[in-house]
Amino acid sequence: MPTPLTRNAKLTIAQLQAAMDEFVGSRGWYGPDSEKPQEPRNLAASISLEANEVLEWFQWSNRVEPDEVGGELADVVLYCVQLANVLGLDLGDALSRKLELNNSRFPEVEDQQWQRRLAS
Ligand SMILES: [Mg+2]
Repeated sequence: MPTPLTRNAKLTIAQLQAAMDEFVGSRGWYGPDSEKPQEPRNLAASISLEANEVLEWFQWSNRVEPDEVGGELADVVLYCVQLANVLGLDLGDALSRKLELNNSRFPEVEDQQWQRRLAS
């Protein structure tokens, strides 16, 4: 069953993985003669290229165009999602494990500066 994709959908990581799999599959990009072969190297390169498109927005200024920058961030994330698909990884699980690892590696600050930042 196709994953419902609407502009305001709040998808879980698993739903994003399913939606990307469906998107790529429905365009024939998994096929042997695909113009966009879903090889790990190609997807890893695409992540890097899209990350540089994010960086380009801040090359000469810190001006933020939310829709434009958001679109580039989405490109990065979607290529990450697709690389996880191709590698058979549960990206939600990988993200949870990394957050847990970071929580143990980096101690919390004593003051509540981060809370003030979130409140501003
Ligand atoms: Mg892009």
